Amino acid sequence: MIEVRNITKSYHSTPVVSNLSFSVAPGEVLVLLGPSGSGKTTTLKIINRLIEKDSGKIFIESEDTDKLTPYELRRKIGYVIQSIGLFPHYTIEQNISIVPELLGWNKTRIQNRVDSLLEMMNLPSSVKSRKPHELSGGQQQRVGIARALAGGPSLILMDEPFGALDPITRQELQKEFKQLEGAINKAIILVTHDIIEAMVLGDKICLLDEGKIQQIGTPKELLFQPANKFVKEFFSQHKLQLELNAVTLQDLSGFISLEGFDLPADLQPEASLAECLMYTDKKASLQYNSLLKIYFNHREVLISKFKESV
Ligand code: ADP
Repeated sequence: MIEVRNITKSYHSTPVVSNLSFSVAPGEVLVLLGPSGSGKTTTLKIINRLIEKDSGKIFIESEDTDKLTPYELRRKIGYVIQSIGLFPHYTIEQNISIVPELLGWNKTRIQNRVDSLLEMMNLPSSVKSRKPHELSGGQQQRVGIARALAGGPSLILMDEPFGALDPITRQELQKEFKQLEGAINKAIILVTHDIIEAMVLGDKICLLDEGKIQQIGTPKELLFQPANKFVKEFFSQHKLQLELNAVTLQDLSGFISLEGFDLPADLQPEASLAECLMYTDKKASLQYNSLLKIYFNHREVLISKFKESV
């Protein structure tokens, strides 16, 4: 659990982060979203103390992080950086072992840790001796997450982890990341400027502008119950795509019986309509067209239901 309370940072009397507060529970993904210059990176760097805040408090597992040395603090944080950032000349085992080695763990403990993390990330132990380029993009991502988890941190920071990828790989890795979330079970703070990514990955979104929180809430809350003009306009450009990502099969279940729709076995009721549309075989696409029709026929009712539940 991380709790950020009223943090503030100014440069030359200009606030770049103003009175920011939020908390993230284990198993929860909070996305810091906002236009360029809104204070996302500064916030992340304040959390790992690469930048000193002017005021405010940050607690990790109820511990005041000001009382920790930067070294102690960073042991509590795992990082997943842009494009996963595995060291290309290290084997997978060496990549995952970096932090435990820095922590001075003995060889057996490190080996056991690597084995259990590979198992958790559903990777065969045969990958240990391979180099990153010998793995698929999805496997590399899982190694990147295993590496971030290796030292047993309480918090994972992800800085534009899918930023430099082509759109298709990006979408695949986002989908895979969502499936891994349960196994990770840590508080995760993810920085992105990509609205769709925020919508797909965030349990909560913290939308920033000029260093201030404009709104913090679930993707649906921001989309259907915007707190102000900025939030409304920020989401308006991609509104339809965002809605299709936010609305799930379950949301439609009050209007139709999904049993009649021969849905693929691995498609969960929590699947978004956008996910459904990715299935392209002919019979299925006809069904999804009907799902979309149902959505648009009931859109107003659904939106008012979402609003009521906020
Ligand atoms: P984001 O990550 O959302 O793009 P940043 O946190 O990097 O935004 O920056 C927020 C604001 O703070 C920007 O206006 C940036 O110019 C300013 N800023 C960041 N670092 C410094 C610095 N060292 N000195 C002065 N201004 C800075």
